[in-house]
Amino acid sequence: MEPDTTPRIVMCPTCKERVKWSAKNPHRPFCSDRCRLIDLGSWADESNRIPGNPSDDDLLSGELDPS
Ligand SMILES: [Zn+2]
Repeated sequence: MEPDTTPRIVMCPTCKERVKWSAKNPHRPFCSDRCRLIDLGSWADESNRIPGNPSDDDLLSGELDPS
């Protein structure tokens, strides 16, 4: 009987790259730490974007900034 030697293949949610789902991949289901951070970053971005209006914010800070 073989233990779990054949890794499952999953898709990296960020770049859609095929990733082996194995204990050797600490970033699963992502292909790399970079993709993991990108995904977390986009989540944070979206939750931050809902309450405020980024373009209004940009205009305001632009007027307040003397440079
Ligand atoms: Zn990826």
